[in-house]
Amino acid sequence: MTGLASVPAPVVLAAPAGTGKTTLARRLVSEGPNFAFSVSATTRAPRDGEIDGIDYHFLDEARFEALIQGDALVEWAQVHGRHWYGTLRRELLDRAERGHHVVLDIDVQGARQIRERVPQAVLIFVMPPSVDELVRRLKGRGTEEPGEVARRLESARDELSEAEDFEYVVVNDDVDACLGRIRGILQAEGLRVARAAALDEQVESMRSEIAALLQDEYGRTVG
Ligand code: 5GP
Repeated sequence: MTGLASVPAPVVLAAPAGTGKTTLARRLVSEGPNFAFSVSATTRAPRDGEIDGIDYHFLDEARFEALIQGDALVEWAQVHGRHWYGTLRRELLDRAERGHHVVLDIDVQGARQIRERVPQAVLIFVMPPSVDELVRRLKGRGTEEPGEVARRLESARDELSEAEDFEYVVVNDDVDACLGRIRGILQAEGLRVARAAALDEQVESMRSEIAALLQDEYGRTVG
């Protein structure tokens, strides 16, 4: 035996927009068979190349509101003071049942709700390496107008102040290095006693085996 099976845990990656967390989340999922991406619902319009059901579930406000009323969302928030985004309960449950660690790419308001409602979640805050780099990435997308870049910078300023409430923080200076840090966190989390599946049965079975050995080989009876 080299390790115990561990209970799958939702992994929350939260960061200001432009930090590159979507790339990190997608890479984590594409490189590890045990990971699945939680596809969020949103009221924002698809960007070029985005596919409904893969990048997001794109909905109008009435349908988003119906999800809230139907208790279908685990968390939801209005991000950058504009559009609504939310994590579907079924994305978390279905994928966890299949043994996947579900990766959530959400904002800090959503992360706060997950912390309260899903205590087994692992919360990781991703920091941009510098303000220059953050601005470069926000402009580099080429999809946002200057007003939108300014709006996202305002959000980033607020979101950075939440980093201290997270369990882990990683700097995304380089995607591969940052992914290595995230995998390290998840590896250690998987070894926590609280996450070990059926630990008590394994412990009891080893203790019985030792008791039988003590009896048979050493003539000692243990209680
Ligand atoms: P974008 O519009 O650039 O795809 O995402 C804008 C922000 O919304 C990002 O910070 C992203 O992580 C966040 N976001 C995406 N999905 C969710 C979600 O389900 N819930 C919350 N709270 N935020 C989300």
